Amino acid sequence: MFWRKKKDGANTSQSVEQTAPLVKAQQDMGATLVQTTSEPKARFVVGGGSSQSTVREIDHFMDGLMRRNPHEPEFHQAVFEFVETVMPFYLDHRKYTDARILERMTEPDRIVSFRIVWEDDNGVPHANKGFRVQFNSSMGPYKGGLRFDPSVNVSILKFLGFEQTYKNALTRLPMGGGKGGSNFHPKGRSDGEIMRFCHAMMSELFRHIGESIDVPAGDIGVGAREIGYLFGKYKQLSNHYTGGVLTGKGLTFGGSEIRKEATGYGVVVFAEDMLQQHGKSMKGKTVAVSGSGNVAIYAVQRAIRMGAKVVTASDSRGFVHLPDGFNDESFAILQDVKENRRASLAVLASEAKGVSYHAGKSPWTVPCNIGLPCATQNEIDEHMAATLVKNGIECLAEGANMPLTAQAIHVLKDANVIFGPAKAANAGGVGCSGLEQAQNAQRLIWTRQQVEAELEKIMRSIHKQCVDYAPVRNGVVDYQAGANISSFARVADAMLSYGYL
Ligand code: NDP
Repeated sequence: MFWRKKKDGANTSQSVEQTAPLVKAQQDMGATLVQTTSEPKARFVVGGGSSQSTVREIDHFMDGLMRRNPHEPEFHQAVFEFVETVMPFYLDHRKYTDARILERMTEPDRIVSFRIVWEDDNGVPHANKGFRVQFNSSMGPYKGGLRFDPSVNVSILKFLGFEQTYKNALTRLPMGGGKGGSNFHPKGRSDGEIMRFCHAMMSELFRHIGESIDVPAGDIGVGAREIGYLFGKYKQLSNHYTGGVLTGKGLTFGGSEIRKEATGYGVVVFAEDMLQQHGKSMKGKTVAVSGSGNVAIYAVQRAIRMGAKVVTASDSRGFVHLPDGFNDESFAILQDVKENRRASLAVLASEAKGVSYHAGKSPWTVPCNIGLPCATQNEIDEHMAATLVKNGIECLAEGANMPLTAQAIHVLKDANVIFGPAKAANAGGVGCSGLEQAQNAQRLIWTRQQVEAELEKIMRSIHKQCVDYAPVRNGVVDYQAGANISSFARVADAMLSYGYL
């Protein structure tokens, strides 16, 4: 059996075996980039503070989940991180245990899988896999992004769809959870190839989505350009203009102000709220960011505006280090290199002053007070987390989905680092998507100020929900537990209202 308690637990007697991606930290400048292999080996360890009976229940639950869903390490990890904090609350409420709600909520409503055939610039046909995981619609139509990346598989999309369900619940907007995408590799493809691929994908996807059914958006590899091609094809096939069927649209055809910036801005707003809750602030602090995509770019911008010094950004090929922090000039080059030229960060280092480039490394050995991982899942393992602690990190907010392994989170929490989990910290993106849907339904366009004000309200409300439900340990709010328990209760209560479905 795969999920098994370890006899000689490392820090407590509560160790259990698990799969998780291999991420190897190094001692030199920059740790090795994340390897998203699907055959990793590592361990889950239930965090200290859980009773033996709770650990037994988690063990039993995960054993069943892993038997029902073999070879899905990312999904196992996402569920483990959830049940680890929710289990005591779950066991305390018979209305949930009697209804077997945890078993029910970890099974997606459905998964659609299809073939996408498209033609490259040389007339050669290619076949890719396409998926949509419709995880849970208890709170509203399925809602969640599309990812284009060679690593995309059912395990990754189930983890993302599961996370999305609880993130969306925290926004308190009527949105269920879903996720989709393709193993298509967009890097190096021409604009014409991207267009043909998006059109081919929508030729099948359009049957499964709709403004009251399932509303996709962007994610890794899917930005405004791809959403434009997807929306255009949907409009042609359905022969009606339904703005609310996709979010992240361009401003000329139903998109919302601030959507592009929303996730990155929201992460920084959430980090600042967490810091203030603990009598601290981001002003004057050193911030390390990973990624240089949609989330990372606007996290960098907002953190600079808050008076922080942002010293890193990264991409899938390496990272840049700016000991004096980004300024207006280097930030403008970053935006241009990534949003327009779609080039490597090495170009930023060659064009801006005071920037060094570290090929094949990730930024987590650079000392910082605040960490904002905004690239991809499992970028930070326990070794990198220990390095961050050694270097004096005070607060970490997850911009990406599941950028930390379960053990890495324990390392931070054990060191009393303020930790903001993705489902709370990066909910600004989907929150703004909800506002885009509201504008589409009203057939109105809100001003930038209106959208920004509504978004701040959503982020503040998420922070409050976390604090209301969170235990406090050594003076530090456990936002992970707060976010998981609060969103669990909301989704579970809705599911109970529907009876046995
Ligand atoms: P983008 O595609 O815009 O950017 C992703 C960034 O991460 C790029 O800089 C990319 O490098 C880098 N990256 C991708 N894979 C790896 C890897 N294996 N190792 C190191 N770096 C990598 O995606 P987003 O910014 O939209 O998404 C980033 C994260 O945020 C994802 O986890 C996503 O699920 C999450 N998220 C996104 C939201 C949104 O609104 N967009 C909302 C909530 C969460 P390169 O430039 O070389 O491609």
